[in-house]
Amino acid sequence: MTINKIKKQNIKTIIFDFDGTIADTLPYTFEKIIEISKKYKIKNNQIIEKIKTISPKELFKEFKISWFKIPLIIWEIKKTQKQLYFDLDKIKIFPGIKELLKNLKQRNIKIFIYSSNIKKNIDYFLKKEKIEECFDKIYVGKNLLGKDKDLFYILKKENLKKEEVFYVADEIRDVLACKRAKIKMVGVLWGLAGKEGFKKFTPDFLIKKPQQLLKLLI
Ligand SMILES: [Mg+2]
Repeated sequence: MTINKIKKQNIKTIIFDFDGTIADTLPYTFEKIIEISKKYKIKNNQIIEKIKTISPKELFKEFKISWFKIPLIIWEIKKTQKQLYFDLDKIKIFPGIKELLKNLKQRNIKIFIYSSNIKKNIDYFLKKEKIEECFDKIYVGKNLLGKDKDLFYILKKENLKKEEVFYVADEIRDVLACKRAKIKMVGVLWGLAGKEGFKKFTPDFLIKKPQQLLKLLI
């Protein structure tokens, strides 16, 4: 379906994911994934391709990562998030995001971030890009694999109607979380999953460029 034919949505709040949606942390992430997979002797050929296109559950199965290694790997991911703080000056904002945020503000849409990254990184990055004023609130979740519970919590806490909310994000685990939380998801094609990843796990809407988000709004 072309984007122009889509029924426009009455959205009052947009929740953005951070990594791979606002900030291009992808090269950093790939580098760290390779390091972690070497450390845990996970055969790492094609691991990047797989991470883009299959769910976390399938990933653990595919790479024969036993259940007792999972907490360790999650701990490693958390460690790389802490290290990211010292590399943030090198991380770029995706083209078109700043303009999109400005446009959304003009429409009086509430803008949140919900991410599994750490607050310190997000705050620093938003300041560096001079966009911290655009966001009404930043939520971070500790649960890497259970984003749906956090999304649920945000809706409740902010008293939001789920039909008036978009979650804008880039990963397959985001699609799964939104389906569980019954929130409409806008998948961005410039992030981790891309066209290939979103083939099997399809968000409600797909956009190629940030400005296309505006076309989905009334
Ligand atoms: Mg992301």
